[in-house]
Order: sequence, then structure tokens, then C-alpha cells
Amino acid sequence: MDAVNLLDFDLEGLTAFCEKLGEKRFRATQLFRWIHQKGATDFDQMSDLAKSLRSKLQGIATLKTLPVISEHVSSDGTIKWLFDVGGGNAVESVYIPEDDRATLCISSQAGCAVGCRFCSTGHQGFSRNLSTGEIIAQLWHAEHALRQRLGTSERIISNVVMMGMGEPLQNYNALVPALRTMLDDHGYGLSRRRVTVSTSGVVPMIERLREDCPVALAVSLHAPNDPLRDELVPLNRKYPIDELLAACKDYLEAAPRDFITFEYCMLDGVNDSDEHARQLIALVKGRINCKFNLIPFNPFPASGLKRSDNARVQAFARLLADAGIVTTVRKTRGDDIDAACGQLAGEVQDRTRAHTRMLRQPVAVPVAMPTRGERQRSDR
Ligand code: SF4
Repeated sequence: MDAVNLLDFDLEGLTAFCEKLGEKRFRATQLFRWIHQKGATDFDQMSDLAKSLRSKLQGIATLKTLPVISEHVSSDGTIKWLFDVGGGNAVESVYIPEDDRATLCISSQAGCAVGCRFCSTGHQGFSRNLSTGEIIAQLWHAEHALRQRLGTSERIISNVVMMGMGEPLQNYNALVPALRTMLDDHGYGLSRRRVTVSTSGVVPMIERLREDCPVALAVSLHAPNDPLRDELVPLNRKYPIDELLAACKDYLEAAPRDFITFEYCMLDGVNDSDEHARQLIALVKGRINCKFNLIPFNPFPASGLKRSDNARVQAFARLLADAGIVTTVRKTRGDDIDAACGQLAGEVQDRTRAHTRMLRQPVAVPVAMPTRGERQRSDR
């Protein structure tokens, strides 16, 4: 029988596991702290654990961290790790230090089945979901490697964004215990406001996350109307913008922040006109408390898309801001190591032929159309 990977458990799960071994709850807490707070991988290091428990764990349990294939350090301090998750798949995580925070961007899947047109992960197709242990091992590695490098026992990573490879809400069952471990005071002790799940809009799972583990929510919007969003984020055909916004609004009732962040990748001649900005304003104004984060597109050859120029991004941002919508333009970080947004590619044994499919279908830019909500309003 394979040894159980203890990184797969949140504290509740680890407690249940320890209870099956005849151990008390506080033993699980001790073990959890050794793993996540102290970065121990060897049960013999865990000096305050009863010897009897340590010997029970030997042989039946393990701490399966992820082998590092490569590490690249950018001139701006950004670090990108490529982790081997077996079977020819590798996933990436990116550490982004700033003056007032240190953020880790984590992957949730090997590849992604959503297939957004502007995303290199989407072009690679999908291989498999990561386990809870594989998601949390990215944080475990980054946190403890950085502490060692900086010679400190203080916590380094203050924020986590689930914005790496994959659609986290399509790997819900593995995601939630990983989030709980990040938030747990005996684990990484991160504030709910500082853990962000980014989704392309898996509506039923947004509703479940609100109940199970509300953290900050970012939504990859990228278009102000359904015909264009259908092209850019194919999941929109299943969960169109109106349903998505309704789910976001409900989410705010439980969310740790009082706004949703909408991510909007600026694509030259596709979604970046003044008319698109006006449609966005009409879509959200008075309907949902939100912020926009405009992301300069990071071009890659297979996408057939171009980055909007800086003046266009600024003009678009100004229109939104003038309408009273808080708008930021994301600084690109780690450009020199391909660690910027949408550039994470890892290695994926595609089981979906997404790459070939996308190459055959260039993005068709629909003429600007009213949103579904506007159509319904004018029909009345
Ligand atoms: S943007 Fe996110 S959801 Fe879309 S293909 Fe890329 S990883 Fe998947």
C-alpha cells in the first residue's frame, strides 16, 4: 500500500487520520505545525511528537514535496519555479516580492481545459487535476526555500493567488482543503483577504465556495458582452455574463472583501475600444461592487493576438475610472523569465488536443453588441 501523503490533508483531515491511529487531536495539530510552519519533512525532526507516533508514521505516511525542475530569478526579484508532477507534466509557481507584500501565484491543474484564447496554458490543453498535496506543496516549497535563502524563520509569503496554470474551480475538491491549510493559524496563517481564487466563471462552484471557504475572488472577465466573451473565454457559452455577475453579487455577501476584482486582458483591436469600455461600465455600474484590473497581454506566437499599446490601455482605464470604477493596470513582473500573467506554460501532456483546435480557429471578433442584460431591458 502507498504511504499516505500528509500534504493532502487540511487540519481536519489530519486529525481524522491521527484519530484512526489512536492519537489525540492535539497530536495532529503538533504534526501540522511541524509540516507547514517549520517545514519539517523527516518525522525524526519532530522532537515534541511522542516517539510512539513517530514510529507509527514511519512507513505509512510521507511528506511528498515536489521535485524542482528549474528555478529562474528575474532581475526584478520575481522567481519562477517549474515543479515536476510526474507523467511528463510540470507546473509553474511564481513568487512576486513587492514593498508591502510577497505574493505567490500557484497552479491548480496540469494544463487547463477552459482554453482561453489569450492564455498560453489554455493553448497547451489539459492533462489532469493536481491533488491537494501538489497544490500546497508549491506554497510549502516557496515559503521554506525563501526562509532558508533569506536566513529567517519569519513568514515570507503574505498573499496567495490561485492564478497559475489551471481553473481552480474545476478542481474544487482538491482546492478547498488547500485553501483551508493556507488560512489555518497552525498552517500558513494567511488572511482570507490575502488569498485569492481566480476563476474564468464556473458559476455553480462560485456558489459553493461562498458556503465552504470564502476568500477573495477575482473573475477573468476579458469582454463586456457574451458574443465576444464566448470567443475569448469559451466557458462563457455555458455560464454567460448575466449568470456570472449574479453569482459574483451573491458571493459578496460572504466574501472577506466588499468587491470582486475583474481581470481584463487588453487585446489590441479585440476588446480594447472606447465602446468596449462603455459597455463594461453599463454592465457593472450600479449592479456590482467591483474593481477592474487591466492586464497588458503577454503575446505568444500561437495566440495570433497582439498587446494593446500603452496609450490605449491608459485611455481605457481612464474611461472606467471617470465612471467611478476603481481601475488599476497590472505591472508586468518577471517578463525576462516568462513569468508574467498568461505566460505560465509548464509542460503538459495534453489529453484534449486543445492546441491543434485553437490553431485552426482564429479569434473571430464580433461587432460590438449590447450585453444580454441591456437587450433584456430594451425588450421590456
Ligand atoms: S486564463 Fe485561466 S481559465 Fe483560461 S485557459 Fe488560462 S488558466 Fe485556464
